[in-house]
Amino acid sequence: MKVIDGKAIATDLELESVAVANTLRGRGLDPTLAVVVPTADEATQWYVRSIERTAARVGVTCRVDQMTNTDSAALIARLQQLSADPSVHGIICQTPLPQGASLEGVGAFIAPEKDVDGANPESLGRLAAGLPAFAPATAAAVMHILRREGTQLYGRRAVVVGRSTVVGKPVALLLLAEDATVTICHSKTIDLVEICAEADVLVVAVGKSELVTGEFIKPGATVIDVGTNPTPDGGLVGDVNAELAARTAGALTPVPGGIGPVTTMLLVSQTLLAAGAA
Ligand code: NAP
Repeated sequence: MKVIDGKAIATDLELESVAVANTLRGRGLDPTLAVVVPTADEATQWYVRSIERTAARVGVTCRVDQMTNTDSAALIARLQQLSADPSVHGIICQTPLPQGASLEGVGAFIAPEKDVDGANPESLGRLAAGLPAFAPATAAAVMHILRREGTQLYGRRAVVVGRSTVVGKPVALLLLAEDATVTICHSKTIDLVEICAEADVLVVAVGKSELVTGEFIKPGATVIDVGTNPTPDGGLVGDVNAELAARTAGALTPVPGGIGPVTTMLLVSQTLLAAGAA
């Protein structure tokens, strides 16, 4: 089984993005990503620092907007302000959100053309309608990896486990747009194992440690593990049991080092796309 190297794929995309950033800067543009952080949360701080580092390497200005004691109304006002600011090209809003706020609710106030993490429900609607839109970076990362790996999608069976707005649904729409035959599974799915075992491409975005074992996997299938589940010793495991999957799968993204680095990189590269179109 091939272990897909997400870090190497992210590095390739970084090199391409540096060139794009240089071209935009040559045109007098300062590509800028605004990262709105509504609450103080340790895991979020870590993630935001990794976005800042990636943006700095590429040449994208990253403005972190750490809010304190904020509520839904103040957060929405900030997102509206950034949406109207011509010097900002990409906007992302980190979770956790203030009490009572939902990502779909606040995301609706991010201008679609700056919505580089696909948080505005309009972006998902546009994806469903086959119109140009930014997909959530994680969903875009799944597709980027499949493209880089040369995984055939046309006419093939793809199964997505998980139907969240941030991962499962947009991944399914993007796979459909590539002419895969797509099945979406969730917590109420009957015969999950049998359905997964028909997949040429299996994308798992559930959030349950090592739910997927060998019998879920068709021999030779490409398996994308989106899950990130903390372990008691401070580590991270995916939704796929890598050791058992290795006996059947053709290729698998590891956790960590698979989807994660590509997702962070895509936030930055989607900001460059937004800046280029501005
Ligand atoms: P979520 O909103 O909690 O959605 C989980 C989905 O899994 C739901 O659709 C749920 O079904 C389904 N599910 C739960 N238990 C199941 C089971 N036993 N069998 C089949 N389906 C089941 O989670 P999410 O935000 O999509 O994230 C999923 C995972 O990806 C998490 O581990 C998260 O940390 C990770 N993630 C990683 C990245 C990254 O960049 N690496 C980014 C985002 C998320 P129902 O709809 O029926 O409840």
